[in-house]
Amino acid sequence: MPCFADKKRVVIKVGSSSLAYPETGSLNIRKSRALVEVLADLKNSGKEIVFVTSGAQAVGAAKGGFVEKPRDMPSKQACAAIGQSELMKFYSECFEQYNHKVAQLLLTRDVISNSERRTNVINTFNKLFELSVIPIINANDVVSIKQLDFDENDTLSAIVATLCDADLLVMLTDVDGLYDGDPSDKDSKLIAEVDCINSDIIALAKGAGSSLGSGGMLTKIEAAKIATEAGIDTVIIGNKDPKLLYELFESDNARGTYFKAIKD
Ligand code: GLU
Repeated sequence: MPCFADKKRVVIKVGSSSLAYPETGSLNIRKSRALVEVLADLKNSGKEIVFVTSGAQAVGAAKGGFVEKPRDMPSKQACAAIGQSELMKFYSECFEQYNHKVAQLLLTRDVISNSERRTNVINTFNKLFELSVIPIINANDVVSIKQLDFDENDTLSAIVATLCDADLLVMLTDVDGLYDGDPSDKDSKLIAEVDCINSDIIALAKGAGSSLGSGGMLTKIEAAKIATEAGIDTVIIGNKDPKLLYELFESDNARGTYFKAIKD
Protein backbone atom coordinates (compact mmCIF):
# COMPACT_ATOMS: atom_id res chain seq x y z
CA MET A 1 0.00 0.00 0.00
CA PRO A 2 1.17 3.58 -0.47
CA CYS A 3 2.88 5.65 2.19
CA PHE A 4 0.39 8.02 3.81
CA ALA A 5 2.97 10.52 5.08
CA ASP A 6 1.05 13.42 3.53
CA LYS A 7 -2.24 12.59 5.29
CA LYS A 8 -2.86 15.11 8.04
CA ARG A 9 -6.29 14.51 9.56
CA VAL A 10 -6.56 10.85 10.49
CA VAL A 11 -9.50 9.01 12.06
CA ILE A 12 -8.38 5.91 13.95
CA LYS A 13 -11.03 3.41 15.02
CA VAL A 14 -10.34 0.78 17.64
CA GLY A 15 -12.80 -1.92 18.69
CA SER A 16 -13.55 -3.53 22.03
CA SER A 17 -11.37 -6.54 21.27
CA SER A 18 -8.34 -4.26 20.81
CA LEU A 19 -8.86 -2.62 24.19
CA ALA A 20 -10.31 -5.16 26.59
CA TYR A 21 -9.43 -8.68 27.70
CA PRO A 22 -11.79 -11.16 25.98
CA GLU A 23 -11.92 -13.34 29.09
CA THR A 24 -12.98 -10.60 31.52
CA GLY A 25 -14.00 -7.55 29.47
CA SER A 26 -11.76 -5.42 31.69
CA LEU A 27 -9.50 -2.88 30.08
CA ASN A 28 -6.24 -4.25 28.75
CA ILE A 29 -4.13 -1.50 30.27
CA ARG A 30 -0.89 -2.47 28.56
CA LYS A 31 -2.44 -2.54 25.07
CA SER A 32 -4.53 0.60 25.60
CA ARG A 33 -1.56 2.55 26.99
CA ALA A 34 0.61 1.47 24.06
CA LEU A 35 -2.08 2.68 21.68
CA VAL A 36 -2.42 6.06 23.41
CA GLU A 37 1.35 6.48 23.27
CA VAL A 38 1.39 5.98 19.49
CA LEU A 39 -1.59 8.30 18.96
CA ALA A 40 0.03 10.97 21.13
CA ASP A 41 3.27 10.60 19.19
CA LEU A 42 1.50 10.80 15.82
CA LYS A 43 -0.10 13.99 17.04
CA ASN A 44 3.34 15.28 18.04
CA SER A 45 4.50 14.54 14.49
CA GLY A 46 1.91 17.01 13.19
CA LYS A 47 -1.11 14.81 12.51
CA GLU A 48 -4.60 15.72 13.65
CA ILE A 49 -5.86 12.61 15.39
CA VAL A 50 -9.53 11.69 15.79
CA PHE A 51 -9.94 8.61 17.96
CA VAL A 52 -13.08 6.44 17.64
CA THR A 53 -13.18 3.98 20.49
CA SER A 54 -15.52 1.17 21.45
CA GLY A 55 -15.15 -0.76 24.66
CA ALA A 56 -17.64 1.09 26.87
CA GLN A 57 -20.03 -1.84 27.17
CA ALA A 58 -17.31 -4.44 27.66
CA VAL A 59 -15.46 -2.41 30.27
CA GLY A 60 -18.73 -1.32 31.92
CA ALA A 61 -20.02 -4.89 32.11
CA ALA A 62 -16.84 -5.98 33.88
CA LYS A 63 -16.93 -3.02 36.23
CA GLY A 64 -20.67 -3.37 36.83
CA GLY A 65 -20.19 -6.95 37.99
CA PHE A 66 -21.80 -8.75 35.04
CA VAL A 67 -20.32 -12.21 34.53
CA GLU A 68 -20.82 -11.93 30.78
CA LYS A 69 -21.80 -9.18 28.38
CA PRO A 70 -25.56 -8.63 28.94
CA ARG A 71 -28.06 -8.84 26.08
CA ASP A 72 -31.01 -6.79 27.28
CA MET A 73 -31.05 -3.12 26.36
CA PRO A 74 -31.27 -1.49 29.82
CA SER A 75 -28.28 -3.54 31.03
CA LYS A 76 -26.33 -2.86 27.83
CA GLN A 77 -27.04 0.83 28.15
CA ALA A 78 -26.12 0.88 31.84
CA CYS A 79 -22.85 -0.90 31.00
CA ALA A 80 -22.14 1.66 28.26
CA ALA A 81 -22.71 4.45 30.80
CA ILE A 82 -20.45 2.82 33.41
CA GLY A 83 -17.74 1.96 30.90
CA GLN A 84 -17.71 5.25 29.00
CA SER A 85 -16.67 7.29 32.03
CA GLU A 86 -14.09 4.65 32.91
CA LEU A 87 -12.65 4.80 29.37
CA MET A 88 -12.55 8.59 29.30
CA LYS A 89 -10.85 8.77 32.69
CA PHE A 90 -8.18 6.41 31.39
CA TYR A 91 -7.71 8.21 28.06
CA SER A 92 -7.70 11.62 29.64
CA GLU A 93 -5.00 10.63 32.15
CA CYS A 94 -2.89 8.78 29.57
CA PHE A 95 -2.97 11.55 26.96
CA GLU A 96 -2.27 14.10 29.69
CA GLN A 97 1.05 12.35 30.35
CA TYR A 98 2.05 13.43 26.86
CA ASN A 99 0.59 16.87 27.37
CA HIS A 100 -2.39 16.31 25.08
CA LYS A 101 -5.94 17.37 25.79
CA VAL A 102 -8.92 15.23 24.87
CA ALA A 103 -12.65 15.81 24.37
CA GLN A 104 -15.52 13.33 24.43
CA LEU A 105 -18.09 13.28 21.62
CA LEU A 106 -20.95 10.80 21.90
CA LEU A 107 -22.88 10.61 18.65
CA THR A 108 -26.14 9.16 17.40
CA ARG A 109 -27.04 8.35 13.83
CA ASP A 110 -29.26 11.39 13.44
CA VAL A 111 -26.14 13.55 13.15
CA ILE A 112 -26.33 12.56 9.49
CA SER A 113 -30.01 13.16 8.83
CA ASN A 114 -30.62 16.18 11.07
CA SER A 115 -28.85 19.10 9.44
CA GLU A 116 -28.80 21.24 12.58
CA ARG A 117 -27.19 18.49 14.64
CA ARG A 118 -24.81 17.76 11.80
CA THR A 119 -23.72 21.39 11.67
CA ASN A 120 -23.24 21.45 15.44
CA VAL A 121 -21.02 18.38 15.33
CA ILE A 122 -18.97 19.77 12.43
CA ASN A 123 -18.56 23.09 14.24
CA THR A 124 -17.43 21.25 17.38
CA PHE A 125 -14.86 19.24 15.41
CA ASN A 126 -13.51 22.38 13.78
CA LYS A 127 -13.18 24.19 17.09
CA LEU A 128 -11.46 21.19 18.69
CA PHE A 129 -8.93 21.05 15.82
CA GLU A 130 -8.34 24.77 16.24
CA LEU A 131 -7.71 24.18 19.97
CA SER A 132 -5.45 21.21 19.18
CA VAL A 133 -7.62 18.89 21.28
CA ILE A 134 -7.98 15.19 20.37
CA PRO A 135 -11.66 14.31 19.80
CA ILE A 136 -12.54 10.90 21.26
CA ILE A 137 -15.74 9.48 19.82
CA ASN A 138 -18.13 6.73 20.76
CA ALA A 139 -21.77 6.07 20.01
CA ASN A 140 -24.17 7.57 22.53
CA ASP A 141 -25.50 4.14 23.43
CA VAL A 142 -27.60 5.37 26.34
CA VAL A 143 -29.98 7.45 24.25
CA SER A 144 -30.08 5.16 21.24
CA ILE A 145 -33.56 4.05 20.39
CA LYS A 146 -32.89 1.24 17.98
CA GLN A 147 -30.77 -1.81 18.77
CA LEU A 148 -27.99 0.48 19.90
CA ASP A 149 -28.21 2.90 17.01
CA PHE A 150 -24.68 2.21 15.85
CA ASP A 151 -24.45 -1.36 17.14
CA GLU A 152 -20.85 -1.38 16.02
CA ASN A 153 -18.48 1.53 15.68
CA ASP A 154 -17.22 0.81 12.15
CA THR A 155 -20.05 2.73 10.50
CA LEU A 156 -19.68 5.43 13.12
CA SER A 157 -15.99 5.83 12.26
CA ALA A 158 -16.79 6.28 8.56
CA ILE A 159 -19.44 8.86 9.36
CA VAL A 160 -17.04 10.65 11.68
CA ALA A 161 -14.43 10.65 8.89
CA THR A 162 -16.89 12.39 6.56
CA LEU A 163 -18.07 14.86 9.24
CA CYS A 164 -14.57 15.97 10.13
CA ASP A 165 -13.36 15.93 6.53
CA ALA A 166 -10.61 13.41 7.28
CA ASP A 167 -7.76 12.56 4.93
CA LEU A 168 -7.55 8.96 6.08
CA LEU A 169 -9.65 6.43 8.01
CA VAL A 170 -7.80 3.60 9.76
CA MET A 171 -9.67 0.69 11.37
CA LEU A 172 -7.70 -1.61 13.64
CA THR A 173 -8.93 -5.16 14.00
CA ASP A 174 -8.10 -8.74 15.08
CA VAL A 175 -6.95 -9.75 11.60
CA ASP A 176 -4.38 -8.00 9.39
CA GLY A 177 -6.93 -6.91 6.82
CA LEU A 178 -9.22 -8.46 4.23
CA TYR A 179 -8.22 -11.97 3.10
CA ASP A 180 -9.22 -13.81 -0.06
CA GLY A 181 -10.43 -16.70 2.12
CA ASP A 182 -10.66 -17.73 5.77
CA PRO A 183 -7.87 -15.75 7.52
CA SER A 184 -7.03 -18.76 9.70
CA ASP A 185 -6.41 -20.88 6.60
CA LYS A 186 -2.72 -20.57 5.73
CA ASP A 187 -3.43 -20.67 1.99
CA SER A 188 -5.52 -17.49 2.24
CA LYS A 189 -3.82 -14.33 1.10
CA LEU A 190 -4.14 -10.80 2.41
CA ILE A 191 -5.59 -8.42 -0.18
CA ALA A 192 -3.28 -5.41 -0.16
CA GLU A 193 -5.38 -3.03 -2.22
CA VAL A 194 -9.04 -2.71 -3.19
CA ASP A 195 -9.95 -0.25 -5.93
CA CYS A 196 -13.68 -0.87 -5.88
CA ILE A 197 -15.86 -2.38 -3.15
CA ASN A 198 -18.04 -4.62 -5.29
CA SER A 199 -20.15 -7.69 -4.50
CA ASP A 200 -17.08 -9.99 -4.72
CA ILE A 201 -15.32 -7.99 -2.01
CA ILE A 202 -18.44 -7.95 0.15
CA ALA A 203 -18.76 -11.72 -0.26
CA LEU A 204 -15.22 -12.16 1.09
CA ALA A 205 -16.06 -10.17 4.20
CA LYS A 206 -18.26 -12.65 5.96
CA GLY A 207 -16.19 -12.52 9.18
CA ALA A 208 -18.09 -13.38 12.31
CA GLY A 209 -16.74 -10.72 14.66
CA SER A 210 -15.19 -11.21 18.08
CA SER A 211 -16.76 -12.16 21.40
CA LEU A 212 -16.43 -8.62 22.76
CA GLY A 213 -17.15 -6.36 19.80
CA SER A 214 -20.24 -6.20 17.65
CA GLY A 215 -18.68 -5.61 14.25
CA GLY A 216 -16.81 -7.93 11.91
CA MET A 217 -15.14 -7.67 8.53
CA LEU A 218 -18.46 -7.01 6.82
CA THR A 219 -19.22 -3.86 8.85
CA LYS A 220 -15.65 -2.71 8.19
CA ILE A 221 -16.09 -3.13 4.45
CA GLU A 222 -19.39 -1.26 4.64
CA ALA A 223 -17.63 1.51 6.55
CA ALA A 224 -14.83 1.54 3.96
CA LYS A 225 -17.51 1.91 1.27
CA ILE A 226 -19.04 4.96 2.98
CA ALA A 227 -15.63 6.58 3.48
CA THR A 228 -14.14 5.83 0.05
CA GLU A 229 -17.32 7.01 -1.69
CA ALA A 230 -16.87 10.27 0.24
CA GLY A 231 -13.34 10.50 -1.19
CA ILE A 232 -11.52 9.29 1.94
CA ASP A 233 -8.74 6.69 1.69
CA THR A 234 -9.37 3.85 4.13
CA VAL A 235 -7.14 1.20 5.65
CA ILE A 236 -7.76 -1.91 7.75
CA ILE A 237 -4.76 -3.10 9.77
CA GLY A 238 -4.12 -5.54 12.61
CA ASN A 239 -4.39 -4.51 16.24
CA LYS A 240 -1.58 -6.65 17.67
CA ASP A 241 0.95 -3.85 17.91
CA PRO A 242 -0.17 -0.19 17.74
CA LYS A 243 3.33 0.67 16.49
CA LEU A 244 2.18 -0.74 13.13
CA LEU A 245 0.38 2.58 12.75
CA TYR A 246 3.75 4.28 12.26
CA GLU A 247 4.39 2.14 9.18
CA LEU A 248 1.38 3.66 7.45
CA PHE A 249 3.04 7.06 7.54
CA GLU A 250 6.70 6.04 7.26
CA SER A 251 6.81 3.23 4.71
CA ASP A 252 5.05 1.98 1.63
CA ASN A 253 4.80 -1.61 2.76
CA ALA A 254 2.56 -1.52 5.83
CA ARG A 255 0.66 -4.78 6.22
CA GLY A 256 -3.08 -4.37 5.81
CA THR A 257 -5.75 -3.67 3.21
CA TYR A 258 -5.98 -0.30 1.52
CA PHE A 259 -9.33 0.81 0.08
CA LYS A 260 -8.72 3.51 -2.47
CA ALA A 261 -10.83 6.67 -2.24
CA ILE A 262 -13.17 7.32 -5.12
CA LYS A 263 -12.30 10.74 -6.48
CA ASP A 264 -14.58 12.46 -8.95
N1 GLU B 1 -20.51 1.73 21.45
C1 GLU B 1 -20.21 0.37 21.80
C2 GLU B 1 -19.31 0.31 23.04
O1 GLU B 1 -18.57 1.24 23.30
C3 GLU B 1 -19.58 -0.31 20.62
C4 GLU B 1 -19.51 -1.77 20.78
C5 GLU B 1 -18.73 -2.47 19.68
O2 GLU B 1 -18.29 -1.89 18.71
O3 GLU B 1 -18.56 -3.63 19.83
O4 GLU B 1 -19.32 -0.65 23.74
